[in-house]
Amino acid sequence: MAMPFRFELLHQDAGSAARLGHFTTPHGAVDMPAFMPVGTQASVKGVDAGRLRESGAQMILANTYHLLLRPGAETVAALGGLHTLMGWDGPILTDSGGFQIFSLAERATIDEHGAVFRSHIDGARVELTPEDSIAVQERLGSDVAMQLDHVVALPNDREVIAEAMRRSVRWALRCRAAAKRPDQALFAIVQGGLDAELRAESAERLVAMDFAGYAIGGLSVGETPEEMYETLHVTLPHLPRDRPRYLMGVGRPIDLLEAIALGVDLFDCVMPTRNGRNALAFTDRGPLRLRNLQHALDREPLEPDCPCPACRHSRGYLRHLFQANEMLGPILLSIHNLTYYQRLLARARQAIAEDRFTAFCAERRQGWNRGQDDIAVFGLRIAD
Ligand SMILES: [Zn+2]
Repeated sequence: MAMPFRFELLHQDAGSAARLGHFTTPHGAVDMPAFMPVGTQASVKGVDAGRLRESGAQMILANTYHLLLRPGAETVAALGGLHTLMGWDGPILTDSGGFQIFSLAERATIDEHGAVFRSHIDGARVELTPEDSIAVQERLGSDVAMQLDHVVALPNDREVIAEAMRRSVRWALRCRAAAKRPDQALFAIVQGGLDAELRAESAERLVAMDFAGYAIGGLSVGETPEEMYETLHVTLPHLPRDRPRYLMGVGRPIDLLEAIALGVDLFDCVMPTRNGRNALAFTDRGPLRLRNLQHALDREPLEPDCPCPACRHSRGYLRHLFQANEMLGPILLSIHNLTYYQRLLARARQAIAEDRFTAFCAERRQGWNRGQDDIAVFGLRIAD
């Protein structure tokens, strides 16, 4: 690993594979397990950098695909790079565009050279090779860049999944050869669908190339939560203990805890902000739907012990903001949900440090026992 980056494994939970870690980057350190809010277009929707910091976030994600199309990597670089542009001085991870080419781009064709697609904004023809993806991420100036990967839908033919996985491995090598910035770490992405053998092959080949971190990609694309957990269970043992492990695009609070128990260190997902914009608040007693009439005269905050600005108000007021289409409603609920995720991860880290992570998961699961199943996992990364 290049010098500005360091991952320290501080402790492993006595009753599970949950890990307490500390990841140092040129823009500061991240306590792991960690959750990254998603700043799709160099903006976490409705939440400025100051509020983001107050929510407890230490590291955020931005999408290469979106920034490549608008305003363009050259414009971001001319405005000082992503950190300056967003006013965020902490670590930033950029994804490579592989997932958005799969989920958003129009008429995408992918061959060994790279991807060619039409912009979903204006139909412009765009080519993105592994080398292009690295060049764009270097101009954006993120702390962690992701390799370009070939994502395919699930379920799919084993041969299709295998070929996309092996292409992703070859692209990982091309990305590493293209990467020039010493102040940017490169993470590889393990693919292979729900197939244990393909996942193991992907992981082992990437680990042999020695990357600064490893992501598990190609999940949250239509499989059940149980299939996702099983895939993590068979994949994580193939990854080195001394590198961060990042589960891309996941998920619900319960998914985070299940994945942490299996040894995942890092997450990103649009769930807190997207659900916040849609009047759904996460709490320890399950999600609250503020548009429901039962909250109209409710003087209680979303959560009594939450320090966020939304929780200075009553549920009745927050419901009114949504009913009246006031923009403050989606903003406040986004901040609350981001704060909820960060507090959940902080409590998870505390539980790991005290060797009681399994008991912590059981308590949380009991509290959430209602409502979680209403929130679909499928497609949550796609349109944000
Ligand atoms: Zn709150």
